[in-house]
Amino acid sequence: MKIAVAGMGPAGSYLAALLSGKHQVDVYEGQTEERFTSVCGWATAYGGTKEALKEVGLDFDDYVLHRGREMYVSAFDRTFPIDAPELVTFDKPRMIRDVAKGLNVRYGSFVRQGDLESKYDLVVDATGPYRRILGPVQEGRDMILPTFQWLVRYKDMPFDDFYIEPFDSFSGYLWYFPLGDHDAFVGAGDIQKGHRASVEGFLKKHPPSEKVATMGKPIRVAAPSSVLPHYGGNVVGVGEAIGTVYPILGEGILPSMTAAKMLSQMIDDREGYSRGVRSRFSAYDLAYGYIIRKMEHTDNLLNSFIPAVKIFLWFKKNFDITGVNPSIIETLRVLRPRKKATQGPTPVTPGPLSP
Ligand SMILES: Cc1cc2nc3c(=O)[nH]c(=O)nc-3n(C[C@H](O)[C@H](O)[C@H](O)COP(=O)(O)OP(=O)(O)OC[C@H]3O[C@@H](n4cnc5c(N)ncnc54)[C@H](O)[C@@H]3O)c2cc1C
Repeated sequence: MKIAVAGMGPAGSYLAALLSGKHQVDVYEGQTEERFTSVCGWATAYGGTKEALKEVGLDFDDYVLHRGREMYVSAFDRTFPIDAPELVTFDKPRMIRDVAKGLNVRYGSFVRQGDLESKYDLVVDATGPYRRILGPVQEGRDMILPTFQWLVRYKDMPFDDFYIEPFDSFSGYLWYFPLGDHDAFVGAGDIQKGHRASVEGFLKKHPPSEKVATMGKPIRVAAPSSVLPHYGGNVVGVGEAIGTVYPILGEGILPSMTAAKMLSQMIDDREGYSRGVRSRFSAYDLAYGYIIRKMEHTDNLLNSFIPAVKIFLWFKKNFDITGVNPSIIETLRVLRPRKKATQGPTPVTPGPLSP
């Protein structure tokens, strides 16, 4: 088949690498080669990502920047550590470039609906939150959060490991992710739009020696069953475009690569692929439903306790793909009721491609 992949994030690059050799694949990436980057916290789970990269002949150890032991969580006026033996930050743009090395990549090619469909047997929408080829979500309930992030440099790092602050009503969270060599990302995503203020508040409290750069981009936290359609005509979506981001953590790198692998194995069967994605990521539906109830204050002991326990069990079973391994007490401590927020959830329209 002649296949076009729109978007060279983790999903698009990994899919193209898995398909190349068996199909003729062209990758269209909106950013130029010189300025190519990935607006993201660059954190992922070590074990799962290492396994995934092996399949395309790369060693994940070559990209790791910081290897975690713990993630400090600040909630309800106390800070406590959660086991995070698998959580790492890594050089994501360099890894993506290497995954796509040797492929036919057309950098600086920003594509829209209608540009590619007639020229290819199959067009893959891997444009992340934007769904530029598939178009807006028609069935389900989409949810896209704005984010804002600083790359900063410290003489003395304020934390020696990962640190997060979940916001009231589960509207998002602030993160501090160490990048090795005294660098860190300090960012936040918040549907209530308090993300910038919270980042600036953190930097006031923990002033860096240098503020290097700001960036931002929307993130989809809706789960795959709420981000439909997954395909239409000769177009099929993969990665964040179809909701493969874990709603509670905002972790989308490894799940998007997992979805890409599924698509590579079912490239001739789009319905089967869509069914497979919904089934494989059904735990994401549970987590998404959970945070919606928290945001809307419709959660109570009856509708929240069992899902919270299921979320805990899912973390236990999957810490090689989430990186964190909280105890039941720590899970319930983070998931416990929050005070009422000032406004309900408002889906935010995706912004421009560049930060
Ligand atoms: C601020 C922030 C922090 C995050 N932190 C983490 C984290 O620490 N860990 C984690 O696991 N996840 C994180 N995520 C989520 C994660 O970045 C994504 O879920 C993941 O990268 C999704 O991969 P993808 O390939 O589906 O899409 P993307 O990574 O979004 O890649 C899409 C690609 O398509 C290109 N593109 C877009 N539109 C077009 C177009 N019209 N034509 C051509 N190219 C186009 C883009 O330039 C981009 O290269 C974060 C997200 C944000 C916004």
